[in-house]
Amino acid sequence: MLCEPRPVEETFSIPLPTPLSTLMAEPPPWCQDIQLDLMYRLRFIEQLQTVSPPQACDNESDDCILDILNWIALCFMPDETRSGVSVAFASQANRITLHVSKDRRVGDENVKDFLTTVRAILAGDITDPGVTAPVLFRMVVDRCPGSIMRKITSVADTDEGAGQTIYRFNSIFATWLAYRPEGETSLGFISMATKYGGDAKKANEYLLESFSTLATQTPDQMDGMGAKERFTYISSVMTASSLLLASTFFADITHSHSFRLALKLQDRQFMHQIWRRLSDVSAYKHGALQFAYVALPYIRSIVGDLSAGQDVHVELVPGLDEGTYRWGRTPAEQIQHMLPKEDGATPSCSRPPEDSELDSDSEGSRTAPSTATFGMGNTACDELLNSELALEAWVAGADAKVSVHPELQLVHHMLEHGVNAAYKAIGTSKPMCWTCSVYLEHLSLAMGEERDDEQWWHAKGTERVTHRWMMPKDAPDVVVHGVLEDVQSKMEKLVDDVAFDCYF
Ligand SMILES: [Zn+2]
Repeated sequence: MLCEPRPVEETFSIPLPTPLSTLMAEPPPWCQDIQLDLMYRLRFIEQLQTVSPPQACDNESDDCILDILNWIALCFMPDETRSGVSVAFASQANRITLHVSKDRRVGDENVKDFLTTVRAILAGDITDPGVTAPVLFRMVVDRCPGSIMRKITSVADTDEGAGQTIYRFNSIFATWLAYRPEGETSLGFISMATKYGGDAKKANEYLLESFSTLATQTPDQMDGMGAKERFTYISSVMTASSLLLASTFFADITHSHSFRLALKLQDRQFMHQIWRRLSDVSAYKHGALQFAYVALPYIRSIVGDLSAGQDVHVELVPGLDEGTYRWGRTPAEQIQHMLPKEDGATPSCSRPPEDSELDSDSEGSRTAPSTATFGMGNTACDELLNSELALEAWVAGADAKVSVHPELQLVHHMLEHGVNAAYKAIGTSKPMCWTCSVYLEHLSLAMGEERDDEQWWHAKGTERVTHRWMMPKDAPDVVVHGVLEDVQSKMEKLVDDVAFDCYF
C-alpha cells in the first residue's frame, strides 16, 4: 500500500539502465512471419480459453496510485467498451504531464474535458478533499453514464439470467450463515438495517436485498432521467456496490481460507466474478475519492495554484500502430505445426515451409522449448485437436486486424522520449491482457531492471489472451524471442489442460 505521495525528486530517481536504442541497433528483427506465428498461437490459446476454467487470481486492489491512474483512464471512456486507454504521470520542476495512449475510437475531447475540470479545481480556493471528491465524482458520472450503466447491468449478466444469479447468490449466503452464524456485521449494513429497518439484526436481509436490486437493473433504467436524477440513481448504485464489497460476507469470500474451501469451485468462481463486477462499478466513485484525497494534494505540491508557469499538461501518444493479417492456413493444417511432435521434436515458430513465400531462415531458427509432456499421439490431445473447438478457431482466407495495445505504445513512447513515469506506474481502463504483462516483464529484463521496484507497475491483469495483439515495432529482439517462448509454453500447457479436462 502506497498512499503517501513521494517527494518530487524521488519520482525521478529511476534511471533507464540500458538505453533502448542500444537494444535496437538493428532494424526490427521480427517481421510479418513472426507476427503471423504469434497471431495463430494467440488465437488458438484464446479459443482454448473459452473452455478452460478461469484462473483464480488475487482479488485485492490495494494500491491507491494505480486506483487513481485506472480511474483517470476510465474518465476518458464515456461509451466505448472495446477500446482501451493507458495513462502515466511524469513530473518535472513545476509541471506535471499526464501521458495518454488511446485508440482512435476515444475522442481527444474526453481528455480535454478532464483537464479542464482538474485545472478549474486547482485554480480555485477549495482544497478540502471532502468538497472536491463529489465534484470529481459528479464529473465522471456526467461524462460516462453509458459505460457506468453497462457495468451496472453486467453485474448479474450470466448465462443463467438474473433470477438464477440471485438464487445462487442467496444459496451461497445461506452456506456462509452456517459457517458464520452471527451473519453480516459490517458497519455499512448494520447502520442501514438500524436506520431503515429499526433493527441491526436485519443486516442480512439488507445485504441480500441490495444484491438483488443491483442484479435486476436493466439498460433502460436511466431512460428519461435528467442529469440530477441520473446522478442520484448512479450514486445509490455505487453505494450499494461499495457496501457489498465492504461486507463481512465478501471479506470471508476473499479472505477466509476455510470458508472458501467449503464452497464448490464453480461457486467460488461465481462469487469471484461478482466481486470483480461490483469492483468495476464502484471504481468510478472509489477512484474519484482517491484522486481528491491523494492525487490532488500531490499535484498541488508540484504545480501550486497554476500561477507562474506551473501547470498540468496532457500529452497524447500518437495513434496506435495497427496491421491486418490473413489467416493463410486452416487450423487443421496449422495447429499440428505449432505443437511438439510425438518424438519430442520441438515445433518451429514460423509458418510451415511449404506455405512460406518469404525466406524464413532467420525465423525458422526461432524455436521455442517444449515443456509439455504430451505428444501428438496422445489420444485425449488428438481428440481435442480434431474437435470443432480446434478446427473452427479461425477461417483460412479471412483477415484479422491487430494493433499494439495502448499500454505498450505508452511505455515505448515514454522510453523513446526519455520520460520517467512517476512511480513507474501505468493506469489502464481495463485489466491488462496476459500478453502485454508478459511483454512488459521481458522488456524490464532486457533493460536490466530485475528488481521488483524497477519494473513497470500496473494493476494485476487478466490471464486472458486476444489474438488482436501486435508486437510493438520497437520491440528489442530478446523481448520478441521471450514473448514467443512464453506464448508457445502457454499454448502447450493449455492444450494439455483442456485435453485432460474435456477428453480424458
Ligand atoms: Zn494487452
